[in-house]
Amino acid sequence: MSDPLLSVEGLRTHFHTDEGTVKAVDGVSFEVSRGETVCLVGESGSGKTVACESITKLVPSPPGEIVDGRVTFDGDDLTDRPPSGLTGVRGGRIAHVFQNPQGALDPVYSIGAQIVEAIQLHDDASDGAARERAIGLLERVGIPEAGSRFDEYPHEFSGGMKQRVVIAMALAGEPDLLIADEPTTALDVTTQAGILDLLNDIKAERDMAILFVTHDLGVVAEIADRVVVFYAGKVMERGGVHAVFETPAHPYTQALFRCLPGRGERETIGGSFPDPTDPLDGCRFHPRCPHAIEVCTEGDQPPLEPVDADHTASCVFHGEGYDAAAIREGAASAARSTAARTDRTGSARTGDRSDAAGSAGRTDGGRSATEDDR
Ligand code: SF4
Repeated sequence: MSDPLLSVEGLRTHFHTDEGTVKAVDGVSFEVSRGETVCLVGESGSGKTVACESITKLVPSPPGEIVDGRVTFDGDDLTDRPPSGLTGVRGGRIAHVFQNPQGALDPVYSIGAQIVEAIQLHDDASDGAARERAIGLLERVGIPEAGSRFDEYPHEFSGGMKQRVVIAMALAGEPDLLIADEPTTALDVTTQAGILDLLNDIKAERDMAILFVTHDLGVVAEIADRVVVFYAGKVMERGGVHAVFETPAHPYTQALFRCLPGRGERETIGGSFPDPTDPLDGCRFHPRCPHAIEVCTEGDQPPLEPVDADHTASCVFHGEGYDAAAIREGAASAARSTAARTDRTGSARTGDRSDAAGSAGRTDGGRSATEDDR
């Protein structure tokens, strides 16, 4: 098997605040291979965004500090490089797309000028050549009449179209890895579907990898090849999207699935999120876990134990000497929840994502990538 494009090992990123040290990311490991989409999923505050920002050292320091871990990208160790040493990687080979496209665009420059600037940052293209490429990128991301809209300003574009422009800017550096942090959360469901289709298409065309952050399991079903479930700064479960959706192995993942709206009563995860300045001993999910036993409250977070091929879970019941069948019923009921949701909504999306997308039951009605807004 070839080396992964991105490898994150034992990453710890903390924030030193007046209230104490927030251990936002506390020893997480995951990999992304060329041409695949890996989704980081979990509740707000679970550490997904901080983990992504740590890869290219976008974490504000102070108060943030990457205290441990190793980040390797395409064979290069980025760990000890200062942010200034990441020129050519950040915004080039690794590009970011954030939730709010408005914040990524300068309101006083035309969108064409901003894409040209992004192109010339990574390439000494002439103004004319950069303009041609920028128009090509706008066309590729689905901006109608790209040539005439080149000189328009961000306020003249809708939210979905602005996000397409931001994706065009990200593509200007011809990235090998696109880090997309909740890029569709602020968009209506139809526009969201168009952006997800666009990202899937671009990934396939360019053999690009995508690291996608979301709290929405419906989005995960649409776009992921593999899933990494975060909770309280730790990884709870990792695996292929079909394995995780069909047999969620960690009680936290099972609980997330039961929160999906279904035909019956929609459940919530009881209890509250742990204090990030005072991490719990043992499994960080134990106060909210219906299967917790005494050993869950002691020591460190359980290691990621194999569930099946390329599927691991950080739960004692998957370790030696325990019977994972004790938590299987949770997986079965989570699967029933997703199936019920599918019955209610229909398998709205079709194509090669149909199995997992059907499980999560997106409700967009399968609109095409072309938006009719401006
Ligand atoms: S280790 Fe214990 S508390 Fe944590 S998920 Fe497993 S059973 Fe629940």
